[in-house]
Amino acid sequence: MTVPQRLGPSSANTRSAILDLVRSGGSVTRTELAERSGLTPTSITRVVKSLIEDGLVIETGFLESTGGKRSSVLELNTRARFAVGVSLDAGRLTYVVTDLAGTVIGRLVSPGIDQVGPSEDVARIARELGQLLVQLDVPVESVVGVGVAGAGLDLGAGAERLSITSTEWESFALTQALEPRIGLPVVRDNDAACAALGQYWAGRVPATQDFATLYLSNGFGLGLMTGGSVARGASSNVGEIGHMIVDIDGPDCWCGARGCLEMLAAPRAIVAQAFELKGLADELGLSGDPHRFRSDFELIARAGARGEPRCYGLMDHSARYVAAATLSIVNVLDLDRIVLAGPGFADAGAVYVRRIREQVTRHARTRGIHPVAIELADPGLDAAAGGAATLALQHALTPHAVGGGVRG
Ligand SMILES: [Zn+2]
Repeated sequence: MTVPQRLGPSSANTRSAILDLVRSGGSVTRTELAERSGLTPTSITRVVKSLIEDGLVIETGFLESTGGKRSSVLELNTRARFAVGVSLDAGRLTYVVTDLAGTVIGRLVSPGIDQVGPSEDVARIARELGQLLVQLDVPVESVVGVGVAGAGLDLGAGAERLSITSTEWESFALTQALEPRIGLPVVRDNDAACAALGQYWAGRVPATQDFATLYLSNGFGLGLMTGGSVARGASSNVGEIGHMIVDIDGPDCWCGARGCLEMLAAPRAIVAQAFELKGLADELGLSGDPHRFRSDFELIARAGARGEPRCYGLMDHSARYVAAATLSIVNVLDLDRIVLAGPGFADAGAVYVRRIREQVTRHARTRGIHPVAIELADPGLDAAAGGAATLALQHALTPHAVGGGVRG
């Protein structure tokens, strides 16, 4: 990364870019920072001094002398500040607290939203978040912000569109409701984009790679990273892969189209298919309650992963659709890597990885030019929450790199 030349050495963006170079470099010297940023040594010295005074960067030692003055080694002071990430999901709420490097230092899982309505849920989120910080002995003053990951977002209208079953959330302004309760800035984005950002920040994916995170909770989402930033599109709604049409004569979708991936391969569809197989619902103890389709789905996915033939067949059928959609994405965008994340892949993710690998290896147009890695995120279940914490860190510390997301 190069610091944009139009920026003066004292601008906030320059400071943010230098901090990002220290973060991504692991340990660096002032000379290396000058080389990588294109700034003069004098400017670097000034910026680093202010980062050290703020406690964000520390000097951890010296390089062996090569004759002149010894160079000190700079590193991110990872425990100087913290961030919180929350993943809003119908199945469960996941909270993580991370340090500056994005390392998770504590987590909490509680029942999902969907039942009581947004106002009560926001009050609960504020309470649980406060409890987690106390438990971890993290002072609120050291938290830079809270990132919230949700299903889809209508960022332009400032409201959260969470799922088709909870219409109350569709017009609910989450940020405005949550910020005053917790006294911290809140930034939010869709869960697939958060998961992608988290993988990138934590260094699991090289910054040079163009990759996508395929996220599965109630439905499918795709987070796309290109050149180190999250791709945004016109309204920050890149990645609606759940509405990719995979069968033009398929079932009607709630979006208005027909044959969408979501209608054929998402958890709700798999649960419906399980009920069509004689005796299976009773054997597995499925509830059939529309509000509990996610726990029904988990029972099917777990049985499939254990090798129960009918459940394996249902998961594999879903995986074949997902593999076809993913192959199209790989072909359209020429990606290096697809990372599968989210609670939907927690139990039977391996079935999806196998089918996607098979399709991409055999049919990707670029298969003779470069490989495409297909892998499960680590940790898949916390990927969105961890990425949401990353989003909060990025907004607070390296705003020059923020391609979108929304505040206020
Ligand atoms: Zn659709």
